[in-house]
This record gives sequence, structure tokens and C-alpha cells, in this order.
Amino acid sequence: MSVAAEKEIAQQSAGKLKTAAYAVASATSPVAPFTIERREPAPHDVLIDILYCGVCHSDIHQARNEWANSTFPMVPGHEIIGKVSKVGSKVTKWKVGDTVGVGCFVDSDRTCPECKAGEEHFCDNLSLTYNSFEQDKKTPTYGGYATRITVDENYVLRIPQGLPLEGAAPLLCAGITTYSPLRHFGVKAGDQVAVVGLGGLGHMGVKLAKALGAHVTVLSRSANKREDALRLGADDFLATRDAAVFEKNAGRFDFILDTVSAAHDYNTYLNLLRRDGTMVLVGLPDPVPLSAGSLIPKRRRLAGSMIGGIRETQEMLDFCGKNKIVSDVEVIPIQQINEAYERTVKGDVRYRFVIDIASLK
Ligand code: NAP
Ligand code: ZN
Repeated sequence: MSVAAEKEIAQQSAGKLKTAAYAVASATSPVAPFTIERREPAPHDVLIDILYCGVCHSDIHQARNEWANSTFPMVPGHEIIGKVSKVGSKVTKWKVGDTVGVGCFVDSDRTCPECKAGEEHFCDNLSLTYNSFEQDKKTPTYGGYATRITVDENYVLRIPQGLPLEGAAPLLCAGITTYSPLRHFGVKAGDQVAVVGLGGLGHMGVKLAKALGAHVTVLSRSANKREDALRLGADDFLATRDAAVFEKNAGRFDFILDTVSAAHDYNTYLNLLRRDGTMVLVGLPDPVPLSAGSLIPKRRRLAGSMIGGIRETQEMLDFCGKNKIVSDVEVIPIQQINEAYERTVKGDVRYRFVIDIASLK
């Protein structure tokens, strides 16, 4: 029997698990208490009691329908850490009590070339952790602003021992989203790397690029985050409010990781790349005009990158375990989520809000 069919039967026959959550009812609503139903574990599912959930800027973009693809009610949250509390009859990978993570997606079609290549995150039928549907294309998915979640065992990650769990939660999105392009584009020891925007993704980009041996420069709007950037491991810091930095640093970097969440001029940043340098966009603001002249003179490349597959996410978690890398977090009770959204939009987060889900119980 297919996994989808097993799940369908489990959905119909088993009791649903009433679960406390926080949701947005519309693009203009605050995040507020809500009750959802999780499925009882199907044979290949695990039920996870959620301990922490990070607050990604993508939660805000989607809660406010800034990507024009939101469905409501929406329970955001895709940086989930918890403990396995129940396993389905055929689960082999996990046992009750294991500390596990769930990132930005909870299933994929498992048959397409992307899935077969272990790049499930590029599957055309990806089931995102929220604002999406299960593989039946009708059951909505709800994210980690909730006390528990039921997930197929193949879409669950192992959290290395010894990492503080609240700091590890953001690795499930901010960590993999910055690790994947650094690895894919071959950033290596000694490379000149610039990280644009020092927020949730940016500060992980600094730590990970540094751990790969790169010389890391942070480009932030003002000088406010200079000391933090250096403490996080950056070797240099440039405040982009001073337009002269673009002239002084033209042609300097091998690789630029752009994590900025709001519209900005890519052309000025591209000019900071040396010959054959690559700038990767991971931030998802509104589009801005791109000039061919920003790319052509030095054979520069502009690319995008989206999260990472399960195999690479596990590799990133193990890398972080080995190098003792976690996110710098501000732990909040769920009741402060709307204020946390406001502060994130203002760039006033040092450097990731993480919800203590105990506050929801
Ligand atoms: P964040 O914590 O809010 O950080 C974004 C940073 O962008 C801010 O800290 C700020 O850095 C800079 N910034 C904000 N407004 C700006 C403006 N008007 N002009 C210039 N810089 C500005 O957000 P995040 O959670 O890291 O997410 C960043 C972006 O990545 C979001 O668009 C998110 O949706 C996207 N994302 C993409 C993926 C993917 O797979 N590609 C995954 C997760 C998130 P400074 O204060 O240092 O200037
Ligand atoms: Zn995210």
C-alpha cells in the first residue's frame, strides 16, 4: 500500500488529536489562539511534542500575504524542535523520546527527479510545513506555532546532542538556507565572503561561512550591528548607508550572500563581486530591476537558493553539532508573537526570536 493510501486510511479511521496553536485568520489579523487537529500517527508517522519554534521572516511574509499565495487560517512556523511522543507501527528511524527537528517541508511526491536526487525541496509537489497541503492536496498543513505535529519519519531530522535546543531550532530554516548555497557554490577557506543583512539568516551565514574558513564581511544598513557582527565571527563590517563603501569595495568579494527581506538595488551589490564572483539571493523581497551591465563586465553570476533537502539539512545539523554552532536567540512566550513580528520587520532582532512552546500549553 502506498504511503499516501496508508495516511488516508489513518486520517479516516483514527481519532484526530486536538492541538493548541496560534494562527492568523487573514492577512490583516494578528496571530491569535486557535485549535487545530493533528492526525494520529499513520504507520510511517511520528508524533512530536514541540518544544521550540523559531520565527522566520517568511512567517511574516506569508501571514501578511506578501507573496500573494497565502491560505487562511494559517499556523506559521517551520523551525521546529521537539521530542518524539508516539511512533507509527512501521517507523524504524525514531523512538519515543528522541529529540528531533522539522524544517520547511513535511512531505514531497518521492517520485520526481528532484526527490530521487535527494533535492526534495525542489519537488513540484512539495508539502510545505504550513500554508500548503499534504500529498492528498486537500488536507492543509499547519506549522510549529502549536504544541505538537505529526510528520512522516522520512521528513524528520536528528538534532545532535549537546546543542541548546532553543538555539538549534533556527538551524532548521535559517541554518540550512545559508549553509546550502555556501556549500553548493563551493565557498572555501580564504574566500572573501560578504553577508548582506544581519538578521536571522544573515547571522547564521556569518557563523557558517566563518566555520568554512572564509574571510567574512557583514554589510548592514547602519553601524548599529558592527560589534555584534564581529562578535558573531565576522572579520570586517561595512555600513551601506555610507554610499562610498560601494566604490571603495568594488570587485572585492568572491561570494555575496544576500539575505535582505526588503526591496533593495541588487546592481550596487553585484558591483562588489570580483571576476567570476557569485551573488546568491536567499532573501525574498519584491523584485527590483536588474541591469545586464551589472553582470557582464566581470562574468559575474547572480543565483538564487532555497532551503535545502533532507540529506543536506542533516549534514548541516551534524556540521553545527561538530562546530558547536547555534543561533543567537531571544526566547519569547507565544503571547509576544505579534510584538516579535513588529520588531523583526524593523530589523530589531538579535538575531532570531524563538517561541517557547511551553507557554502555549
Ligand atoms: P530578518 O531576520 O528580518 O533579517 C533580514 C535583514 O534584512 C534585516 O536584519 C536587515 O539587516 C535587512 N533589511 C531589512 N529591511 C531592509 C531594508 N529595507 N533595506 C535593506 N536591508 C534591510 O529576516 P530573515 O528571517 O533572516 O529572512 C530574510 C529573508 O530571507 C526574508 O525575505 C525571508 O522570507 C527569506 N527566506 C528565504 C529562504 C529561502 O529558502 N531562500 C528561507 C528563509 C527565509 P540589517 O539591519 O543588517 O541591514
Ligand atoms: Zn524560514
